Amino acid sequence: MNKIFYIYSSLMLLNQNNKIISRLHTSSVYNNNRPEMKKIRKIISKERLNKCIICNKIYPLCLLDCAHLKPRSIIKISERRNLDNIEFMCKCCHFLYDNGYISIKRGHLEVSDDIIDYNLFDKNNEKIKIIEAYNQCNKEYFDYHYKYIYRLKK
Ligand SMILES: [Zn+2]
Repeated sequence: MNKIFYIYSSLMLLNQNNKIISRLHTSSVYNNNRPEMKKIRKIISKERLNKCIICNKIYPLCLLDCAHLKPRSIIKISERRNLDNIEFMCKCCHFLYDNGYISIKRGHLEVSDDIIDYNLFDKNNEKIKIIEAYNQCNKEYFDYHYKYIYRLKK
């Protein structure tokens, strides 16, 4: 069973032998290399609920990231301020999304077999989780992630 740890501003995914599979330095998200993010975060925090779109939990703002649905590193500079490509995710879900362990297909959450033991679904064990934030405006960004970044089920 894989485990997720948050230590010293890093999120780490460990396998059953406690070996680090993946690591993300969350503090790097707000560094000065992303000048537009401060403004975008301010706008989104006023316009949207302080809720992770994946696990649906309400969090204090300090635990929510402005996550790019399609990676910021590959979008055009002119697209960086497009709010359709940005949603609130908690640090755990953001880590899983960025590393392709989860993705959204036609508005439904998909979980990679690599973390099959990590329960992101509702307490009543629903097999399908609907992502309410999915819409026609952000569909292309979710689709890109599913096609190129998601670790497809084996
Ligand atoms: Zn979450």
